[in-house]
Amino acid sequence: MSNRIPQDFIAELLARTDIVEVISRRVTLKRAGSEFSACCPFHNEKTPSFTVSPAKQFYHCFGCGEHGTAISFLMNHDHMGFIDAVEELASAAGMEVPRTAGRHDGPGEALFELSSAVMAWYRQQLSRSTEAQRYLAERQVDEQTADTFLLGYAPEGWDPVLKAFGNSADAVRNLTDVGLVISRGEDGEQRRYDRFRQRLMFPIRDARGRVIGFGGRLLGGSGDGKQPKYLNSPETALFHKGRELYGMYEMRRALRKIQRVIVVEGYMDVIALHQHGVANVVATLGTSTTADHLTRLFRVSDEVVFCFDGDRAGRAAAWRALRNALPEVREGRQLRFLFLPDGDDPDSLVRAEGRERFEQRVDASVALSKFLIGQLSQELAMDTVDGRARLAELARPLIAQVPEGVYRELLVGEVADAVGLPAASLAQRIASPAPHGAASNAGPPATGRARRGRRGERDTPVRRALRLVLNYPAIAADAGDVEFLATLTLPGASLLSQVIEVARTCPDITTAGLVERWRDDPVGRHLGTLAAQPVLLEDQSAQGAVEDMSAAATADLRGWLEEIRRLSCQQRKDELEARPVASLSADEKQELQQLQHLVRRPRTGGPPDRAR
Ligand SMILES: [Zn+2]
Repeated sequence: MSNRIPQDFIAELLARTDIVEVISRRVTLKRAGSEFSACCPFHNEKTPSFTVSPAKQFYHCFGCGEHGTAISFLMNHDHMGFIDAVEELASAAGMEVPRTAGRHDGPGEALFELSSAVMAWYRQQLSRSTEAQRYLAERQVDEQTADTFLLGYAPEGWDPVLKAFGNSADAVRNLTDVGLVISRGEDGEQRRYDRFRQRLMFPIRDARGRVIGFGGRLLGGSGDGKQPKYLNSPETALFHKGRELYGMYEMRRALRKIQRVIVVEGYMDVIALHQHGVANVVATLGTSTTADHLTRLFRVSDEVVFCFDGDRAGRAAAWRALRNALPEVREGRQLRFLFLPDGDDPDSLVRAEGRERFEQRVDASVALSKFLIGQLSQELAMDTVDGRARLAELARPLIAQVPEGVYRELLVGEVADAVGLPAASLAQRIASPAPHGAASNAGPPATGRARRGRRGERDTPVRRALRLVLNYPAIAADAGDVEFLATLTLPGASLLSQVIEVARTCPDITTAGLVERWRDDPVGRHLGTLAAQPVLLEDQSAQGAVEDMSAAATADLRGWLEEIRRLSCQQRKDELEARPVASLSADEKQELQQLQHLVRRPRTGGPPDRAR
């Protein structure tokens, strides 16, 4: 699961660390009942929705959905790596991090160092290349901006980088791993050469300013015509295109407060805008905007303006961005679209018009709802009933992707206005098909698509049991026999059995300790979400005294485990009943009889919601 540091150490470290102390050194916390609250450090807000629970050793923001342990906080807030965060907490707690053989400073340390060394070398080459200097002069990039963005030059020739840095087999492998060198061919006849040749180089940096990849623009007309004008590093251990934004680090260094972020398409757009005083700008790296991008963008600002060419391709790209953005919009967040005059890009425009005029354009950009309605109605006859009905039909699946809440209501209102329908009736049409059956029988927990802050997720007995154990790890000890869970096909059942198992073997473990154990596991995010949710105990008199609370929680947990057992019997019974009787073995027939008896029998000690 986690990187080379023993799990038990992590659990103990989190039990000995006070998350309130860790966070209060960075954010001013106010006591609010048994918890602490503050304005969220991860999104802009005026009223506090960020809470820290000393009991769970967990933080959670109701506004942006951000949550996690003391380790996650250091990673997200101070941009530390996992190992650094653990080291920091350990040294504060006076504990020594146990080292396993072959000490490594995290997976990529050598690769980060190499990328940075090559970046420095490219910078030297830039000062020696008249061709690159001439290009920068043509594009009016001044020296200070070139320094800010660490611009460099990859010289002509097949292997200057390989020659300068590839002095051992290890070194060559690392160069290949960071994407600076390409290796082709069979072992006997391997051909290696520099990926970037005769290009102006744009280093791409992570949140901590480390070089993780490069973009390169071809210089000189002499190219064979087969080389792309722009080339990026490939996906590597350090570099993920779908996550990184060019200029993010430089923007955050230049500005304390970021009112809005402008998202452009090219490196030179970022650089030109920055140089002209529009520093709140980043670029996607040749991909369309992903949900990851948006999460990062909304973390630094509540307003994001996408900037596109006004042509057909630009509109299509804008539409893709809109579709990816819908699940991320909500109250307090603004998404706008800026379309530039045909044939212009931000680089040429800001150089021709200057900062003020460009910012006026940004001010006049189109809100998401306007763009959505405008785009959908483009080919519809909006003056006919048919056309308007068709618009409502087209908008329906799009609006359904927006998380429920004020923003969605506003959007429904605007579309309703456009089609001349009462908002309520449109909202009704958009609402997903009515939930079927009793809540407790409803399908699988939404493990795969546990979207943060998304309401209306179906709550299953497995989710409820998980939430209880995560919130009160100590009750796992009295949960009774849970071996049956591991064999169930019910979604989440085996995870539940693992969580209970860990809580039992580690009696002092906190909520944070449990969640941390699944950090590198895809289900970890799901556990974090459940841990952040409050538990409503069935016995509501059980407020206050810890013993009362945990007795009530234990009773609830046992109830839900019983319900899970019943559900799985039901499932198995349905499975057997669905088969032709003749195909059942003698054992299966007997099993079916028992199941039919069991499931029909009125429940004793049923689920905690029996009262309702
Ligand atoms: Zn927040």
